[in-house]
Amino acid sequence: MRTTVGYRRYGAPTALRRVPVERRDLRPDDIAVRVDYCGVCHTDLHAVRAHSGEDAVLVPGHEFTGVVTEVGPAVTRFGVGDPVAVGNIVDSCGVCAMCRAGQENFCREYPTLTYGGTDRHDGSTTLGGYSREYVLRDGFAYPLPGGLDPAAAAPLLCAGITVWEPLHSLGVGPGTRVAVAGLGGLGHLAVKLAVALGADTSVISRSADKATDARRLGAEDVVVSTDPEQMADARDRFDVVIDTIAVPHELGPYLRLVAMDGTLSQLGHLGPVTVQTLDLLVGRKKLSSAGSGGRPATAAMLEFCAEHGVTADIELLPSGRVNEALDRLQRNDVRYRFVLDMSDLG
Ligand SMILES: [Zn+2]
Ligand SMILES: [Zn+2]
Repeated sequence: MRTTVGYRRYGAPTALRRVPVERRDLRPDDIAVRVDYCGVCHTDLHAVRAHSGEDAVLVPGHEFTGVVTEVGPAVTRFGVGDPVAVGNIVDSCGVCAMCRAGQENFCREYPTLTYGGTDRHDGSTTLGGYSREYVLRDGFAYPLPGGLDPAAAAPLLCAGITVWEPLHSLGVGPGTRVAVAGLGGLGHLAVKLAVALGADTSVISRSADKATDARRLGAEDVVVSTDPEQMADARDRFDVVIDTIAVPHELGPYLRLVAMDGTLSQLGHLGPVTVQTLDLLVGRKKLSSAGSGGRPATAAMLEFCAEHGVTADIELLPSGRVNEALDRLQRNDVRYRFVLDMSDLG
């Protein structure tokens, strides 16, 4: 085993503590990554604050960038010193139909998650990127394209790919009318990516507060969801609505904004929803969801972001302030993603 240092939850929902973290010795197809920057995702917050799984060892973090420090003998894709990025999947079965289709995120045997997952070889629980080193199969790391700021690129690996997949699979491009509901970590990247894809992009927000930010991110219009008149005016207006609202909410008002044959993709809140079928029937509307992405799409997203200069708007904090970041994320007090600078771990 090799020992690094990271942030771990102990017992009941509480703060993370800085502790030694063990990593496996490199297998032939493994690389070791010095983690430089790790984004703080809503999933991390839920994991740390959840009342279930209190006995489980938890080191969060599943969107990070860093540099390769060591490679196993069978590794050909990377060499020591290469900048890399890692998302929320670090392995999959590799042989099921989903894996063969490049959708490892849908692996029928369930992909190995970057933290809280089960290693396919030794059965150990995976520990995430809130640490100075990570060891993984080389096939699940991505070369970080030059020109992308490594701190601001970290959130692309979870938030970015999660919004990229629906935009890409729904064929968003020049002239597509896209609306993004909720302007947080996911939402602000959805706006930037939709704009870079050439879509006519709007933001749906509960208040007009974020209108200036929405326009700065490239949105042409803001629809205030608490204003019935604005919502009525926007009826049937968008080919694609990307719903990134993180809390349970009525889908009807958002489905009514979808144009005929258009799609509402609900990403922010995963769980049971209630839908009036009439909201789907009138206009042949479709409801879908997405989360994470496969390896080909993740690589393509990173290339696209490098080409178009898309990264997250971040607030960079020394990793020692991780608990403050989680507290503020819980209050939605971030524009738009915290990234932890791991260099204070030595
Ligand atoms: Zn995430
Ligand atoms: Zn599979």
